[in-house]
Formats: sequence, C-alpha cells, structure tokens
Amino acid sequence: LFPSFSGARPMSYAQMPNDLEAFWMPFTANRQFKAAPRLLVSAKDMHYVAADGHKVMDGAAGLWCVNAGHGRQKIVEAVQKQVAELDFAPTFQMGHPKAFEAASRVAALLPGDLDRIFFANSGSEAVDTALKIALAYHRARGEGSRTRLIGRERGYHGVGFGGISVGGIVNNRKFFGGLLTGVDHLPHTHNLEKNAYTKGEPEWGAHLADDLERIVALHDASTIAAVIVEPVAGSTGVLVPPKGYLKRLREICDKYGILLIFDEVITGFGRLGSAFASEHFGVLPDMVTMAKGLTNGVIPMAAVGVREPVFQAFMQGPENAMELFHGYTYSGHPIASAAAIATLDLYREEGLFERAASLAPYFEEAAHALKGLPHVIDIRNIGLVAGIELESRPGKVGARAYESLVKCFEQGLLIRTTGDIIALSPPLIIEKNQIDELFGILSKVLRDID
Ligand code: PLP
Repeated sequence: LFPSFSGARPMSYAQMPNDLEAFWMPFTANRQFKAAPRLLVSAKDMHYVAADGHKVMDGAAGLWCVNAGHGRQKIVEAVQKQVAELDFAPTFQMGHPKAFEAASRVAALLPGDLDRIFFANSGSEAVDTALKIALAYHRARGEGSRTRLIGRERGYHGVGFGGISVGGIVNNRKFFGGLLTGVDHLPHTHNLEKNAYTKGEPEWGAHLADDLERIVALHDASTIAAVIVEPVAGSTGVLVPPKGYLKRLREICDKYGILLIFDEVITGFGRLGSAFASEHFGVLPDMVTMAKGLTNGVIPMAAVGVREPVFQAFMQGPENAMELFHGYTYSGHPIASAAAIATLDLYREEGLFERAASLAPYFEEAAHALKGLPHVIDIRNIGLVAGIELESRPGKVGARAYESLVKCFEQGLLIRTTGDIIALSPPLIIEKNQIDELFGILSKVLRDID
C-alpha cells in the first residue's frame, strides 16, 4: 500500500495506472516522462506523497495555485456540501446564490472600483474574456476602431488564441499559425547586466514602459484597445517589474484612453503579500484576470475583475438586451463558487496574505544565499516567489533546470522550471524551518548537477 494522508483510502499498486499512454500530457515531454514517471498520489498541507511513498515538499504551490496548502478541511467540506446540495445550475438567464456570493467576495478583495466580476474556468479563459471585454467596451463607446492589443515579450497569458497572441513566448506561438492580427509587444524587462541579484523591484528599467509611446506613435491611439501585462511575469522566470514601470504604463494608458489589464493569475491571492499585485504596487488597472489561488487550485475557476466605468459602458442600451455576448457553461459553477468562498474565508481567517508579507524577508535571504553556487547567474524575488536563473549548457537550454527538477523531486522537493530558470512559490503556510529545508535541498542539488 502507498501511504496516504487521508488515511481513508491508501492507494494500492493494483490501483496504479499500468498504462500511461492515453493521457497526452500538457507542457510535458511525454516520451521522456513516461519512461520514468513521477506520480503524486496524495497531499496534505506543505507536502505531497509520491507513488513510491516518499514525501515531497511543495515548493511550487502545485502550479502556483495551492496558496493555502493542500487538503484544507474547510474547502473539502464546502465542496462536499455543495456537490450534494446543488451540483450544477446554469448561469445563463438563471442564477444560484453561491455565484453571486463568490463574486461579491472577490470584488471586496480587489482594490478600487474593480467591482464587477465575470467568471471563467481557467486563466486562459479569463485572459480571452478580458481581451474581448476591452474590444467590446471601446465599441460600446463608439470607438470601434480601437482593436489593437498590446502584450509584452516574455509575457505568459495562457494558451487560448488571445493569450498566445498577446503572449511573448516563441514556442507557445510559432506552431499555431497567424494568431490574432493587430497585436504588438512591449519589450520585456529582464536584464542580467543591469539587474542581476536584485532583491525586490530592480532600479533599472522603468523607461521600458515608454515603448508604449512608440507603439502609439506608430499606429495612433485611436487604433489601440488595451495593454495586458503580468505585474510580475511568473512563467517566464519571475521577472519583477522595475521601480516605477507599472505606474508609467498606467500613465501612458490614461493619456491615450487605452485600457490596462493586469494578468494576476499568479500574483493574485497573496503571492506578493497583498491580495493582488495591483495593491502591492499601488497601480489600479482597468481589469484584473485571476484563477489558480481563487479556489486554492481545488476546482478550476477563474475570473475577470472589471472597473465600474468599463462595466457601465455596457449598461447603456435597452434593459432587455444582453450586454455581452460571452460566457461559459461553467461560469460561476456552484462547486467552484463554494470552493472559492471557503478559500477566501481561509485566507482571511489565517491571515495568509499578511503571513506571506512577513515571511518575505526571510524567504528573500534564503533565496539569495544560493548566490555563488555552481551555474547560478541570477536570483530575483518578491513576496513568496523567487527565480533562480542557471547558466544554460551550450546548445541545451533547459537541460540543467530539468536535471534539477528531477533531482529535487528524488530528494523530496517539487520545483517549477522554465528554460533554465527555477521558480519557487511555496504555499503561504510555509514555516521558516521549511524554507530552510526547501533551499537546503535545492542548494545540495545545485552542487550535484552537471
Ligand atoms: N496567465 C498567467 C499569468 C498565468 O501564469 C497562467 C498560468 O500559469 C495563465 C494565464 C493561464 O492559466 P490556465 O493555465 O489556468 O489557463
């Protein structure tokens, strides 16, 4: 029997999959993985248990989503209760109380007048939703010529056609045809020469936001609908915005009537020590996309928070006319809504965002103590997230980080890698001694890899 945290249903070898072929795994080298699979069979608080029984500390909050830690009883019970009470109800021309309650709770958490909430099921859908709202908003105001969307190099906004179009990761784009037309990209803010080993926000680079002026000069503001950025780019290696950069973007967007969208799928729900990064940086966007930590990763759910004036632009026509031709079968799903409410309760009751803020300096020191280890060429961090950049092996980008991932897993630590960057984003319940353990395992592995 495999050990199981629940105690109730330990997994036996007979229950393990004996055929790994059918599942076409996402963002995975399928053949490599299936030759030596890593299977997780249960989880509680800071740890997974792998199929061979060894404990694995979660240094990545699953995929940046399990902010309150695993197996939280309050969420388990909320989900169990909801599935027994009301398993599904449509939210097209119909409603159920939990979706409204969840929306109010999210609106209350968002800064400023980001008071209207559109639900989706994944970060990718939230991004598509926000981009569509931006386009429809300008049209509703009689500015239908504003159709250009502006993303950023090294931006990750999920894998929908909207998200990969405004996103700036070549491999996520180049296999998939023409993508959306009328898209431009701001330069990314990653610069090892100027900013290596910066703690928190780098001093250098705010001027990179001025590139938006160049794009406006090239196309005219009357053609531009929205700019979308991650306040901290996560998936491309924890790129913390230079001091003043986001404020500058906000100013230029205001000057030209361009909507500013913050993709907070990773930064939302406490990662930086505040509910949202917009609050942390003191910059109010027109829309915020979120997912992951919204339900602690338990059930898929995502949302777009929309500022009041944007919402009101849609509310001008006849009252019996649908205002936005958009929605998903599972928008505001009852079980996801119940999970979200319970999750937000947990964050508040346990003060997890404040906890992240108070642990951040300790986490920062522990991360930067890796400086000087073999292959390490940069360390950057903010809140409870850090990126450790390794020098790539010639001609083998990503190989070194992948070897680290495999060895960390063997030694009891789950990390996330992107190219040759290791990203660490543990659940916000982590203890100081677990931070020590996490970086202890990583530093051992970094001394050990080729
Ligand atoms: N946007 C950002 C900033 C993300 O980090 C992610 C996922 O990591 C997404 C969007 C896509 O979310 P999903 O995988 O739920 O579609």
